[in-house]
Amino acid sequence: MAKCPVCGLEVRIPEDAMPGELIEHDCGTLLEVVEDNGVLQLRVFEGDMEDWGE
Ligand SMILES: [Zn+2]
Repeated sequence: MAKCPVCGLEVRIPEDAMPGELIEHDCGTLLEVVEDNGVLQLRVFEGDMEDWGE
């Protein structure tokens, strides 16, 4: 089970998820599915989101 890199809670990745797919976590963070050595992982999506700033 992957964990949200922002809030640390578990994130359920759909079995048919593909790398590049975006998942919105319960905390409101948009996560991107990435593949690492055949295992699906999650990272914070840093694409074009107008309200996604630091
Ligand atoms: Zn989260």
